[in-house]
Amino acid sequence: SAERTVVEHLYKVLVIGEFGVGKTSLIRRYTEGYFSPNYKLTIGVDFALKSLDWDENTRVNLQLWDIAGHERFGHMTRVYYKYAIAAVIVFDLSRPATFDSVLKWSTDVHEKVMLANEQPVPLLLLANKCDLPDTVLDADMLDHFCKENKFIGWFGTSAKDDTNVTDAMSYLVETILQLT
Ligand code: GDP
Ligand code: MG
Repeated sequence: SAERTVVEHLYKVLVIGEFGVGKTSLIRRYTEGYFSPNYKLTIGVDFALKSLDWDENTRVNLQLWDIAGHERFGHMTRVYYKYAIAAVIVFDLSRPATFDSVLKWSTDVHEKVMLANEQPVPLLLLANKCDLPDTVLDADMLDHFCKENKFIGWFGTSAKDDTNVTDAMSYLVETILQLT
């Protein structure tokens, strides 16, 4: 018969980083396919879904959690992170101070959530707003940073121009599927 079994996964992915780095814009770009310069600021817990027909037998439903309005605290609660399988940490290439916060966020994640097998949650780094003039991607530095701090990798992204957003998320899903 033509019947086949499709395995369906639901993955909770955290999208974190400082206020204004483009988390909401990246999530909207990825899940809705457009960029708007003025999304309403939502305060509270907010997530968006993206369904991917990964291959013939695998469907991946990504639940992207936007920390919406809680950035100022610099950390989230354990309850919020619970059951997350990965985290995307975003910084803004035009504001170096937002890169300085990346480690603070990664520490917060590792302190509060781990995978079911007690391994650390994989972290992906996004250097966002690469469309802006005068931004420079220091690939060697970012490679080194990821290696040193056990990030699975980094991408230079633009939610505005749709640069690398899909590629970055596909890379993350690939990593998650290898874990499970
Ligand atoms: P969040 O606070 O991290 O959720 O950041 P937002 O998604 O609200 O974005 C903050 C500001 O940066 C908004 O004015 C966005 O329009 C702008 N922004 C977000 N992503 C990009 C990008 O890739 N390029 C440019 N030029 N601006 C962006
Ligand atoms: Mg936001």
